Amino acid sequence: MIDEAVAAFRQVFGGAPAVCGVGPGRVELLGNHTDYNGGCVLTAAIDRRVVVAGRCVTGYRSRVHSVYLGQTAEFQAQSPAHDPAFPWADYVQGVAAVLSESGLVVPAFEAVITSDLPTASGLSSSAALEAATAQLIAGLTEFEPDRLELARLLQKAENEFVGVRCGILDQFSSIFGRADQVIYLDCGSLQHELLPLGEAGRAGPAIVLCDAQAPRSLAAGQYNQRRAECEQAASLLAVALGRPVERLCDVRLPEFEALAAALPDPVDRRARHVIGENDRVDRARQSLRTGRFGEVGKLLVESHLSSRVNFENSTDGLDLLQDLAVRQPGCLGSRLCGGGWGGNTVNLVAPQAVDEFAAAIVAGYRSVTGNTPPIHICRAADGAQTVRL
Ligand code: ADP
Ligand code: MG
Repeated sequence: MIDEAVAAFRQVFGGAPAVCGVGPGRVELLGNHTDYNGGCVLTAAIDRRVVVAGRCVTGYRSRVHSVYLGQTAEFQAQSPAHDPAFPWADYVQGVAAVLSESGLVVPAFEAVITSDLPTASGLSSSAALEAATAQLIAGLTEFEPDRLELARLLQKAENEFVGVRCGILDQFSSIFGRADQVIYLDCGSLQHELLPLGEAGRAGPAIVLCDAQAPRSLAAGQYNQRRAECEQAASLLAVALGRPVERLCDVRLPEFEALAAALPDPVDRRARHVIGENDRVDRARQSLRTGRFGEVGKLLVESHLSSRVNFENSTDGLDLLQDLAVRQPGCLGSRLCGGGWGGNTVNLVAPQAVDEFAAAIVAGYRSVTGNTPPIHICRAADGAQTVRL
């Protein structure tokens, strides 16, 4: 990826870049719709990345070229402005702008973006691009950002400059990822713990992503409706419990079970999914501490069932991918990940079974739908970095 970025830079700008920022994508292994409900999630950075390679230039104007889109955009970090011709450049400008606002003197630069991370399929190419941009600027300015502070700034760039109401999960994962480790993140307190996805000298399960390739047009409206239903569930539970429930995950599963009958349908099922997911993340955390990957896989399967029945954020395509997966030898577990209504399933697969697994999913999915699902065989990877060239 870095060699590709350097070659592209030579072609577009001439000469060599000085620094590369690298930002990985991420996958939510378990903990569906828990982030904005103040709950916990198991997440990992993956070995698919966005690379931004660049060098400082004199003057005020920065230029950035996306190889994937074949476009070059221009902006000024000190007076950022949306350019409707290049909406993707908002992510780069937004990061330069928040770093500049935070007091860093951001120089003008020219840079190219290369990537092997699919965009807009729930693997968080937006956060990867933000993190890579920040690492480039850090390298150009010899600035060592505090990593939690940086995750917050990148979230701010996406919320305020790009205008997407995301939580901090994507940026946190892209920055705090570690090779062969899963991140347990408490989205309320931002406390985290790294948990091994492998044993000393022995590879753990691979993270395999299977893309249902559904159009995402439905997702935004449904997502907002679910957020509203979760808020409604929290207010109803507060009344039933006689105490404030600021966020749905403030209610534990046993408490919820005792009160569930008092909630109307479908709010009861939405709450059951989110509170149940939070509980499953806790159980998976215990299992990961002692390397019991089979137990984690079973929790993934429970999670998918709950998505399908309770949260209703699955699709026929995702259900088919999940159903095919759990029948394959070596598959420990499978579930839809991310918002739902499209995107990928995430699968934990024994390393020696991965190739056969991928072939069986492709053949099975194709025989029912006629389409070939893109499959990404991944490992948990290190978080965002600066590489000096
Ligand atoms: P996701 O984060 O799930 O991939 P988003 O819609 O949040 O989906 O972000 C995708 C957007 O990020 C793209 O539409 C584009 O604007 C920007 N982006 C990601 N990768 C690149 C790239 N290599 N070049 C230019 N823009 C990119
Ligand atoms: Mg995104």
